[in-house]
Amino acid sequence: MTRYGFIGLGIMGSAMAANLARAGFDLTVWNRTPGRGAELEGLGATVAASARQVVADSDITFAMLADPAAARAVCDGDAGVLAAMAPGKGYVDMSTVDPATALAIEEQVTRRGGAFLEAPVSGSRKPAEEGSLIILAAGNRDLYDRSLPALERLGKKIMHLGPTGNGARMKLVVNMVMGQMMAGLCEGMALAGASGLGVPDLLEVLDAGALANPMFRLKGGLIQRGDFTTSFPLKHMQKDLRLALALGEQSGQPLFAAAATNELFKRALALGLGTADFSALASAVDGFRRP
Ligand code: NAP
Repeated sequence: MTRYGFIGLGIMGSAMAANLARAGFDLTVWNRTPGRGAELEGLGATVAASARQVVADSDITFAMLADPAAARAVCDGDAGVLAAMAPGKGYVDMSTVDPATALAIEEQVTRRGGAFLEAPVSGSRKPAEEGSLIILAAGNRDLYDRSLPALERLGKKIMHLGPTGNGARMKLVVNMVMGQMMAGLCEGMALAGASGLGVPDLLEVLDAGALANPMFRLKGGLIQRGDFTTSFPLKHMQKDLRLALALGEQSGQPLFAAAATNELFKRALALGLGTADFSALASAVDGFRRP
């Protein structure tokens, strides 16, 4: 029986690891801040003392970490992933990072005889809980095939997008679009209010036609109520915009609207909204008033 590991038990990682544990997989977990594995222990998972121990005790280890710095940090040092990496072992990084980070970790893993797959995800807390994420894998085909039984517990759509780096690229493009949609929604709600329209009327109009989408439907209502309970931390959305802009620069692609959106997210960060949901962007929009 394949032994699985999971490193990074934040909003997404804890829900994803719980799905693997509920499926009855042999699972070992670790999180930098202790205590986050308690619920998983109740589901039958083993909590390890370090990332190294997770890899040592697993055939395939998944990671779901904040950003490129975190993805690299768990790999390094005596207690890190690489210290236990060896032939026959697989490492699947599902964090949202840039292509260079994915390639650098792949190089370090393969140098020790292991196999690497990148597999960032689209979908937030609820899809993570429901096992209905969209998984954007790229890289090692053999590890992809070996990971499928677990990936199928985590996602409703699983794609293999080609060579390592393409998963990160696709994820950054998708989140660049999403960040701009959120900025558009927040400014639209602000303009509706400022010009004397009813914000609920705006949301009804948006939902009735070609602009209808699950994100506007869900977040529009929550923004109206001022409920910014975190599903997707705003600081991670700004990180994704920053990385998408860098990808644009590397690709020679001008990104005017994304650059402006990034400035708005930077303002939200400066207002101390980094750990709130990314819909708290509304609070950074001039003139935004909750009805
Ligand atoms: P989160 O709740 O902030 O969790 C981040 C995780 O990274 C925590 O386990 C944290 O450990 C760990 N971490 C941070 N810095 C670290 C370091 N230096 N060394 C070791 N561990 C470190 O974030 P999340 O929402 O689960 O997101 C995780 C990743 O998925 C991010 O790349 C995000 O962009 C992406 N993502 C998120 C969503 C979403 O809706 N939330 C959707 C799709 C993709 P501690 O507990 O010790 O801080």
